[in-house]
Amino acid sequence: MRTQVAIIGAGPAGLVLGQLLSNAGIESVIVENRSRDYVEARLRAGVLEQGTVELLRDMGVGQRLDREGLRHDGIYLQWPGTRHHLDFPDLCGRSVWIYGQTEVVKDLVAARLDSGQPLYFEVVDTAVHDLDTDRPSVTFLDSDGTAQRLDADLIAGCDGFHGVSRPAIPASARHTWERDYPYGWLGILAEAPPSTDELIYAWHPNGFAMHSMRSPSISRLYLQVGLDEELDDWSDDRIWAELSTRLGHEGWELTTGPILDKGITPMRSFVSEPMRYGGLFLAGDASHIVPPTGAKGLNLAVADAKLLADAISASYGRRGHDLLDAYAQTALRRVWRCTHFSWWMTSMLHIEGDDPFARQLQLAQLRYLSTSRAAAQSLAENYTGLPYGW
Ligand SMILES: Cc1cc2nc3c(=O)[nH]c(=O)nc-3n(C[C@H](O)[C@H](O)[C@H](O)COP(=O)(O)OP(=O)(O)OC[C@H]3O[C@@H](n4cnc5c(N)ncnc54)[C@H](O)[C@@H]3O)c2cc1C
Repeated sequence: MRTQVAIIGAGPAGLVLGQLLSNAGIESVIVENRSRDYVEARLRAGVLEQGTVELLRDMGVGQRLDREGLRHDGIYLQWPGTRHHLDFPDLCGRSVWIYGQTEVVKDLVAARLDSGQPLYFEVVDTAVHDLDTDRPSVTFLDSDGTAQRLDADLIAGCDGFHGVSRPAIPASARHTWERDYPYGWLGILAEAPPSTDELIYAWHPNGFAMHSMRSPSISRLYLQVGLDEELDDWSDDRIWAELSTRLGHEGWELTTGPILDKGITPMRSFVSEPMRYGGLFLAGDASHIVPPTGAKGLNLAVADAKLLADAISASYGRRGHDLLDAYAQTALRRVWRCTHFSWWMTSMLHIEGDDPFARQLQLAQLRYLSTSRAAAQSLAENYTGLPYGW
């Protein structure tokens, strides 16, 4: 097969890129190693920056988001005795939307299939070749087991942290920065109406807790847990009791309900450079990972895809290769800004070890955010999303 852009991965980065290219009249083929059911059900992020929402609308995939997404105009920061609301429109004139990654992916897969451009699910043995030539290619076995070879002008590696794209860049040309956190998040999805109108980020001596939601009848909640903890040690009753303790606030009650899903996710910050090697361009988790505290992972993947789509469109539109040549540096500036924000939110809210001095610093920072407009504005503008070309 021959196409203009070969895209590896049908996560948010690959699907957004494919749709933006399709809208610009540029052909692509997407190859994905999981099934459609699997990618559409993979429970992950749920907070969309305003820029992500505007982009999805502009791309023509915002109808269901507009009907079912929940606009949130702020978050609550909490520590014992205080629950403080940050009002985003007042602080920075922007908002965020609650709409699950599962729903974003479903909308994008449907739009891709409507566009008639190829999307291969359940491929095996994906490999990239000839990256340092002007005819790079991707090989794979399709779902029938037939060997396929895809020649392209360029390859977009949108295949997440465990994909094949990043490792295809020679180790001598790669540099990585990494921070593993000594805790993870135990996340539950519960059939329970949210006990809050907006997300609660709670600092507590027992560990961080968060109350989020997916819809008016489904809540998503998280507890900081040690990396050595087993899911089996957390009965539903224990989870609800610990959530009630950590999220507890005078006059407020947590609504409980059947737990539909639970899992433990480790937390990591990771950036790999370069994001471009010859004809291979990385986007999203293939190149960087952030801990979920700042709600940036999905939004960063979408931002990379937008920058890359604009750069590819410019080069086909005879506006030259400047944007393509600048893609890696432009994307990385924003990636590092979001990496810092996610690390900062994580460090401020999670309990690490038994250091009373560190805890006082965290509380001082939380009180500063609740009393200084400048401090609150900084959080608001990062949380709701920086411009793509930042
Ligand atoms: C358990 C979990 C919970 C998360 N929670 C949050 C959250 O609460 N908030 C937040 O902002 N972010 C969260 N994230 C991060 C967010 O989901 C990711 O940043 C986002 O999915 C990145 O999108 P992506 O398209 O770059 O990568 P992915 O979504 O990982 O998509 C990559 C795609 O490539 C496919 N693929 C991989 N290898 C190959 C191959 N060899 N050949 C073909 N296809 C391949 C994969 O199957 C996948 O579909 C979470 C991540 C995880 C893992």
